Amino acid sequence: MPGRLQDKAALITGAGSGIGLESSILFAQEGANVLLVDVNLPAAEKVQKLIADRFPNVKSAAFKADVGKEEDVKAAVDKAVELFGRLDVMFNNAGIMHPADDNALNTEEKIWDLTHTINVKGVWWGCKYAILAMRNNPVDEAKGLHTGGSIINTASFVAIMGAATPQLAYTASKGAVLAMTRELAMVHAREGIRFNSICPGPLKTQKRDRRLVHLPMGRFGEAVEVAKGALFLASDDSSYMTGTDFKVDGGLTSAYVTPI
Ligand code: NAD
Repeated sequence: MPGRLQDKAALITGAGSGIGLESSILFAQEGANVLLVDVNLPAAEKVQKLIADRFPNVKSAAFKADVGKEEDVKAAVDKAVELFGRLDVMFNNAGIMHPADDNALNTEEKIWDLTHTINVKGVWWGCKYAILAMRNNPVDEAKGLHTGGSIINTASFVAIMGAATPQLAYTASKGAVLAMTRELAMVHAREGIRFNSICPGPLKTQKRDRRLVHLPMGRFGEAVEVAKGALFLASDDSSYMTGTDFKVDGGLTSAYVTPI
């Protein structure tokens, strides 16, 4: 059985940990060639080794890039095209929530700027260079590989509802990801390039116990559960979806939950 991403070329940022790590494994398991991009190269290399051991039929490589630097993002996309000959899936997943991010009064401008450079400009540049690469994709009817592609940008549930903990720069940055992704989806729809945001709820990786009471399912999400959403958006199973805020949040953003 061919995988859901058979022979597609995917680039995943923040591939060394959490959602990026789980997505890298799932994408490779489904037949994609994967470029694992992270500012933490040893972490990405560890994931690459795991993928090479488990899925010897797919091509994989680790690549060091800081998505907060345009030249790094361009170099990463160029590397994917050099290795795989095309780019079908761009998962702009890397993002930070700085420990010094706070409310309107306490957040320093340098924390705001750093957060927005990585979380917003990093996604913009990822989209920019992915669009340019996808426009050059050769058509391979036999393999079902066409021009166009799927671009997935990681936002957050806090872009949709007020956060219970003050993290103003992060929240604003994720709102920007949603707005930017919708516009890109409209502008590039006729080119066959789909753009969707994925909005994770709170995961174990960012566990803050006071949030647990708000979760309808009574538990934090797992990174792999978000990765499964990303796989759907990456694959042709979501071929008629673009411009969505795809929530993988255990029902959080639909809930009016009172403490038990
Ligand atoms: P994580 O911290 O486990 O992994 C993030 C990865 O990104 C790390 O490997 C890190 O080295 C890398 N990274 C950080 N800055 C980078 C940069 N400038 N350039 C390249 N790589 C960089 O995070 P996660 O929990 O898997 O989160 C992934 C995405 O999901 C982020 O955008 C985050 O904001 C979002 N998100 C997470 C949660 C959650 O609860 N974990 C909830 C909502 C949204």
